[in-house]
Amino acid sequence: MRFVLATHNTHKVAEFDQILASALPGVSVLGYDGPEPVESGVSFVENAFIKARVAAEHTGLPSLADDSGLCVNVLSGMPGIFSSRWSGEGATDSRNVELLLAQLADVPDEYRAAQFRCVIAVVIPATASSPARELSVEGVWPGHIARAPEGTNGFGYDPIFVPEGFDVSAASLNPEEKNDLSHRARAIRELAKVLADD
Ligand code: IMP
Repeated sequence: MRFVLATHNTHKVAEFDQILASALPGVSVLGYDGPEPVESGVSFVENAFIKARVAAEHTGLPSLADDSGLCVNVLSGMPGIFSSRWSGEGATDSRNVELLLAQLADVPDEYRAAQFRCVIAVVIPATASSPARELSVEGVWPGHIARAPEGTNGFGYDPIFVPEGFDVSAASLNPEEKNDLSHRARAIRELAKVLADD
C-alpha cells in the first residue's frame, strides 16, 4: 500500500518511509507537492486531518499528515499548536526558545514537565469496494524544560527539552538516537501497529 505524506519536507518523507516500511513490508510513503492548506484547526488532530484530507483530495491516494509541537504542563499545554510561531511574527527557533525560557523563569524544577506530541492523521479515499476511512494516532515523548539551551543537534525546542531518563537535552542526542525516541517515531510505530492489525 502506498501513502502520500502531506508535507514538502523530504526528510520527513524519508523518516516515515523508513520506519513504516521496516515495520510493515509492502507499505511505502511518497512525497507530495500539492497545495498546503492553512492550518486553521485548534488541535494537533484537527490540523493533521486538514492537511491529510487536502492531500487525499488532490492525489486520490491514501494520505498521511502529521502535526506536532511542544506542550508544557504549567502552561496548560502551550505552546502546543502554536509551537512554530510562539514568539509571534518573524518567529525563529531561537526566539521561541528564549521566550519560553523567560516565561518559565520562576517555575521551580519540579513543575517544568513537558511533552513533545505528534498526531498522524490517515485519510483513505473511498474505492469501488470500500467506503472512505479516517483514523489518527498519537506519539508522546515525555520530559522537562531545562533552564538554558544546550546542544547543537536537532531543531525547534530540542536545546531546552530534556527527555525522561536523560540529563542532557534532545539537541545533545545523536540524530539516530533522537529519531528512535521522538514523538514522531512513536506515532509512526503506533500507526504501523494499527495498520498491521487492520
Ligand atoms: P511540525 O508540526 O512538525 O511542523 O512542528 C511544529 C513545531 O513544533 C516546530 O516548528 C517546532 O517548533 C516544534 N517541534 C515539533 N517537533 C519537534 C522536535 O522534534 N524538536 C523540536 N521542536 C519540535
